[in-house]
Amino acid sequence: MSQNYSLAVEASASSKRRIALIGAFLMVSTVALLYSRSEPASALPIQASKPAIPNLGPIASPRMDIGQNVVAAALTTPEANDWTKIIVAPRQSLSNIFESQGLPADNWMQITRLGGDSTRLQRIRAGDQLNLKITSGQLAELSYAYDETHTLSIRRKGAGFEAATITATLERRNNESAGVIRSSLFADGHKAGLSDRMILEFADIFGYDIDFAQDLQEGDRFAVIFDQLYKEGKKIREGDILAAEFVNQGHVYRAVRYVDGEGRSSYYTPDGQSLRRAFIRTPVDFARISSGFNLRRFHPILNVIRAHKGVDYAAAIGTPVHATGDGKVEFVGVKGGYGNVLIIQHGSQYETVYGHLSRFQTGLRVGARVRQGQTVAYVGRTGLATAPHLHYEFRVNGVHQNPVTVPLPRSIPLNPQLVAQFRAQARPLVAKIEALNNRRFASLSR
Ligand SMILES: [Zn+2]
Repeated sequence: MSQNYSLAVEASASSKRRIALIGAFLMVSTVALLYSRSEPASALPIQASKPAIPNLGPIASPRMDIGQNVVAAALTTPEANDWTKIIVAPRQSLSNIFESQGLPADNWMQITRLGGDSTRLQRIRAGDQLNLKITSGQLAELSYAYDETHTLSIRRKGAGFEAATITATLERRNNESAGVIRSSLFADGHKAGLSDRMILEFADIFGYDIDFAQDLQEGDRFAVIFDQLYKEGKKIREGDILAAEFVNQGHVYRAVRYVDGEGRSSYYTPDGQSLRRAFIRTPVDFARISSGFNLRRFHPILNVIRAHKGVDYAAAIGTPVHATGDGKVEFVGVKGGYGNVLIIQHGSQYETVYGHLSRFQTGLRVGARVRQGQTVAYVGRTGLATAPHLHYEFRVNGVHQNPVTVPLPRSIPLNPQLVAQFRAQARPLVAKIEALNNRRFASLSR
């Protein structure tokens, strides 16, 4: 028996059919899924699912005809009551559990020595579930689903045990939801059946365009198409948002997910523009502006009129400062009135400056690459500063701009070679979401 207990059965060559047979042996019943390649692919492909409790008992020979023998195999599945389900209690170890089940100590000792994935049993945590099958006071089988898609399965072999890890694929099903804003995105999102996580993701997707705290208006509409993940036909959790729409004050914003060749996902407008911007607006969270951009400001320390070519954010010493865009460190160190200052270069046109810092992120040196949102330094009051704050500048082609109002460029759009493919992928989702929002709207305005 291989590492995988699923059976791949190949029918006779003449029929040219390959049938993957996945026995999902559950507590009560046996489910066998048959997937034949000769049949047209369904909209929702059937995927291998992992048995909650694997049948490690008699399995018919790998070469067999489908149909009759499947049933025969199913009938030999052990009775549900052979298994004891154990929920691990706080501070409980495998030896405690075996002891409580009256199993001899050499059982868990042998398992501990199996190595590989079996070592996970030495790190079980409160709330984990183990399934044990005990025969004549000895462990016959053990199954431990240590995450969503992996189950460690141990069974007796001669005088010892053998272990295998069963990997499951989750099935994705499309789900959709739409609603109208009456009070807040959270309240109305919940009303439409969306989870907190979904709502946060939704807000994140449109976060560069819409300020959900300020810009929301009663009557705004939202619609989402998202994945729901199923294992063995049972919903386990929500997956990713595939497409989303928000109609804010009559303006329609749309987003469609795209996964690149390296598995990284981003959201784009249906015509391939990035929804992200090259910069985030503010480098510190939850800080208030203590001094704005002002070309004729009376300087509090120097007592002269002097342009304030940046924005000051009042924040406690040690508050993390984030890089507002991807870039390269151009300067890190002390510079006159700036005190500890960090200058980041973003492409050939943009520069951002962070002054009066208490300290820099360790390892930050000239030439180092930084990512948007990365913590690069901490608020301080070095240089000419009367109180702890971050002095932040935004320069475009060497000219200081007001960081609060400067139009922020969009992130890099989708590679032109991919746009056609993306649009083709996006079209049905956009049509679906449009219909969803319109239908919802029509029913409400009736
Ligand atoms: Zn300043």
